[in-house]
Amino acid sequence: MNHHHSASKMDRRRFLTILGAALAWLAAGCGRRRLQTPTPIPPAAAPPSATAILPTWTPLPPPTPAPKPTFTLSPTATPVSVPIAPTASLEGPADMALINGKVITVNSTDAIVQAVTIKNGLIQAVGTTDELRSRIGASTQVVDLQGKAVTPGLIDPHNHLQVMGLMGTYFLPFLPPEVKTMQDFQKKLAEVAAKTPKGEWIKGYYLVVAEGRVPNRQDLDPVSPEHPVWIMQQGGHFGAANSLALKIAGITAQTPNPTGGIIERDASGEPTGVFYNHRAMDLLRRYIPPWTPEMTRENIISTQALFAACGVTSFQDNNVRGTDTIGLYLDAGKQGKMLLRSAVYYTLEWPQDLNRALKELEHYADPFMRLAGFKFLIDGQAPTAYCHEPHNGISWNTSTWDPQSFKNAVRALHDTGLQICVHCAGDAATDLTLDAYEEAMNANPRPDPRHRIEHAVITTPEATRRIKDLGVVVSTQPQFIRLGGDAYARLFGEERMLRTIVTREWLDNGVHLALGSDAPTTPWYTPQVTLWGAMTRVSYSGKVIGAEQRLTIQEALRAHTMGAAYAAHEETIKGSIEVGKLADLAVWAEDPYSAPLQRLPSIPIAMTIVGGKVVYQA
Ligand SMILES: [Zn+2]
Repeated sequence: MNHHHSASKMDRRRFLTILGAALAWLAAGCGRRRLQTPTPIPPAAAPPSATAILPTWTPLPPPTPAPKPTFTLSPTATPVSVPIAPTASLEGPADMALINGKVITVNSTDAIVQAVTIKNGLIQAVGTTDELRSRIGASTQVVDLQGKAVTPGLIDPHNHLQVMGLMGTYFLPFLPPEVKTMQDFQKKLAEVAAKTPKGEWIKGYYLVVAEGRVPNRQDLDPVSPEHPVWIMQQGGHFGAANSLALKIAGITAQTPNPTGGIIERDASGEPTGVFYNHRAMDLLRRYIPPWTPEMTRENIISTQALFAACGVTSFQDNNVRGTDTIGLYLDAGKQGKMLLRSAVYYTLEWPQDLNRALKELEHYADPFMRLAGFKFLIDGQAPTAYCHEPHNGISWNTSTWDPQSFKNAVRALHDTGLQICVHCAGDAATDLTLDAYEEAMNANPRPDPRHRIEHAVITTPEATRRIKDLGVVVSTQPQFIRLGGDAYARLFGEERMLRTIVTREWLDNGVHLALGSDAPTTPWYTPQVTLWGAMTRVSYSGKVIGAEQRLTIQEALRAHTMGAAYAAHEETIKGSIEVGKLADLAVWAEDPYSAPLQRLPSIPIAMTIVGGKVVYQA
């Protein structure tokens, strides 16, 4: 326990470096640090014009030898990497008993009890403290909750744990309050260049600069004549290179846009240095020295402590680029390095990734690590949201994949028996994805494939009905309303703005909803902020976006526990505090059901338990 404790303290310090001043400025967190409530926003914090949605910084997968396939897949394959159902005896005295508290079970009747006991890593019993006294033996570790609340361990159904540690190490931060204007941005870049050997790449990331301006090569060139530069927006779907970087990558006015990617051009047709969507960014990023497997290993191991300190007990990384990175995740499971339970999804960016997805992935599963399926990004962040009607961003009518090759790939992956997740910002992106799912499911009607839409920022009412009918899960992040909400009216118009992240509509129509963080694409990564965001839907400037779509704490917590478990086919083994389920629990310093709403984002976690083991204690 000591080991984990000191690790989490160290990592919290490290994370402050990672997100730099932006975290202190904007974020709420948990653990011992008392963090300020993330409202109100200082006036200097101009709302970004672009909605951050996804991080995928990895250059093209390097041509390393692939691991041999360990399973032969057939068109009607049963999933080979299913969640491991726990089996252990619940007889005899408990290993641990949490008594005299408020145990929010999130079971089917939302029951709240006083106590829970744990045996062999599983929930042994729930009930009143008196009812459970007979379970307490000489060897039982008794935790007197003294009225504290216990919830199921939070499950983050969409984050990118293995890239979090790169923010601030591999990618240098250009963040507020240090960088608020273009002048600040240039000053910082000049400072970095002065300390970097000539010719070496400078890689960075920014959240928002100069009221939403996207830096271009004209901004970068004067302060980086001797270094190739690549600076990405924190959401991960666009970024800027300087002229030297363009030269190294051989990108000129003659370079055609790749399908689904945009090399921005000026009036004379010359590249501005700005690249939108991954396929375009890949043309440049393949020339940047990638981070090392050691860095990824370190990130996977150390970043888990951050999430443990916020009550997270499971996460799903839905954007793992490169079969080698999938391999590093699976290795972490095999080597017992996982503090939290994880399901990972392999990202396909290019048609040739389909072959890798089908042939090079090990369908591995243990109780802490599992290959769960695949991921596509069918559009970008808000400026490149693929929509039915025009918007005021960069591109509104383009998917990142040619629709037919996307459908073919979805069809082939559906046949593996695993899940598919698709990043969808615009309404047309969701509809194309639903078409692809429907066609695959009609062609091969295997039971409950439970494919997913990630983000679903703008959707139509008709899509809600289809999502329900197809049994598709919506996995979304209220933080985007906080980060980008102020820009939605200008970008999408008032009417469509009210169609952003329609959580109430989904629940009312029986859609399976999972809430998560998408860390590190926004400055907020804690479940507490996510729950608060779903309940308030407040933008930076304090504007409520779609008040009627707000959720109650009960609904939001369910979506972050049972809903998120369901999103990965795990609702029978986790997500609620019920006998026989995994003993994955979060003890809250203050009851999230009765705490004042403004305190919710910063309620500390007192203890996090995974499989009956304390992995974090304040
Ligand atoms: Zn994401």
